[in-house]
Amino acid sequence: MDTPLATENRWLRARLETLIETARETEDKLNRLADLEFRLLQARDLSHLLRLLLQDLKRDFELDHVGLVLCDPTGDLQAALEDPLLDGRWPLRLIPDAAPLQGLHAPVLGPAGDGDPAVLRPEGEDLASRALLPLGRGDQPQGALLLGSNRPERYTPDQDTFLLRRLAAIVSVCLENALAHWRLREMGVTDPLTGVRNRRFFDQRLRDEIGRMDREGHALACLFIDIDHFKRVNDGHGHAAGDRVIAAVAQRLARHLRRFDLLARYGGEEFVILLPALDDSELRSIAERMRRTVAAAPVPVEGDDAIQVTVSIGGARLPPGGLQGQDPVARAHKLLGNADHALLRAKETGRNRVELAEEDLCPQGGHAR
Ligand code: GH3
Ligand code: MG
Ligand code: MG
Repeated sequence: MDTPLATENRWLRARLETLIETARETEDKLNRLADLEFRLLQARDLSHLLRLLLQDLKRDFELDHVGLVLCDPTGDLQAALEDPLLDGRWPLRLIPDAAPLQGLHAPVLGPAGDGDPAVLRPEGEDLASRALLPLGRGDQPQGALLLGSNRPERYTPDQDTFLLRRLAAIVSVCLENALAHWRLREMGVTDPLTGVRNRRFFDQRLRDEIGRMDREGHALACLFIDIDHFKRVNDGHGHAAGDRVIAAVAQRLARHLRRFDLLARYGGEEFVILLPALDDSELRSIAERMRRTVAAAPVPVEGDDAIQVTVSIGGARLPPGGLQGQDPVARAHKLLGNADHALLRAKETGRNRVELAEEDLCPQGGHAR
């Protein structure tokens, strides 16, 4: 028979063990959270950040669902997500303004309720408990993070929210930083007049594409496009009308691009396009379509004026394995040089024409045609 003292002692021991266990779990949770926050702060870009939020957070904290809603009034987030680098499909919703998040000013914990914003209800998932965390600085939330669990005791209204608020603050700053970084990078590689890529971006991608064509065993083609008699546009209608024409030509050319083609403004009224994996006849037909689209209708400019423009196009192609073994810079030069020569011929033979380089760039650099 135990004495009352021994019973109390056993009870106290059991209680102490429970407390130590809880303290260990809390410490472990804190360590995992600190580790995740550290990784969030070090995230290189939006893609990396989203992966941390929507995959690592879910895994490391044994959540059954993580969802993210972000306001995107400028469409920049949408554009950033279309970046080929962001190849994942995320449980992420973009909304044009913060109206659907109205009233969400502090974390809300507990069972999912009818009052939850519709954008924050995961489709096809019945969560036993959830935490809704407003994101952003200032009064208006700029987004929200949803942490969901199948266990009802995971998030309860009486829980302390300090750590969740800290996580939300860090996520908000990281998202803001990643977007600002993306905007800066975009500005550096985009031509402001036309919105297409600039020459700097093109030169970089050309080297990458030459590496890719070898790895994937496909061809790489290039088109040079120059607006015909453009000086007359500037002289006859003014520089502003000239600018409108350059921008309109870029838009018309862009209609014919496939997802992995690259259009860039190479200089004044000159464009360049990189097109992987085309044969000669496909290259010619795409170039012809571009030429016809530009000439199809006059470009409306200031007032009731409209200006008829045409372009001359020169194309060249590196077939699969073309000039392989040579330095990538030399191969790029040769491809661009041949397209440029073809453009010159298109100009000399009457303009509003497509000419393709006669010289095929074989593995040894010989002439095949
Ligand atoms: P061609 O058919 O032989 O190409 O004749 P062209 O008149 O187009 O000749 P060229 O290519 O030499 O002329 C290009 C002109 O484009 C010269 C330059 O003043 C003008 N230009 C270059 N950049 C811009 C720009 O950003 N805006 C405007 N409006 N004009 C530009
Ligand atoms: Mg020119
Ligand atoms: Mg010109």
